Amino acid sequence: MAVPKKKTPSARRNRRRSHHGLTAAKLAKCPQCQEPTPPHQVCPSCGYYKGRDVLKIEAKKAKAEAKKKARKDRAKGK
Ligand SMILES: [Zn+2]
Repeated sequence: MAVPKKKTPSARRNRRRSHHGLTAAKLAKCPQCQEPTPPHQVCPSCGYYKGRDVLKIEAKKAKAEAKKKARKDRAKGK
């Protein structure tokens, strides 16, 4: 394994790390539900993109609730 001959000085190390800063995610407002959402992506809270319901989140939510209820009823029945 190659081993550095000299210890990297703190100034050089810090200069290298001066580019490592993170930036906060840029968020746009969803025109459908007004929630902050990443631009050019389907809104994660309402599933709309370019005025169309792409993910049908409400339908999926209703289906999941129905499934949950059915499971609960089955557990009670036993
Ligand atoms: Zn939305």
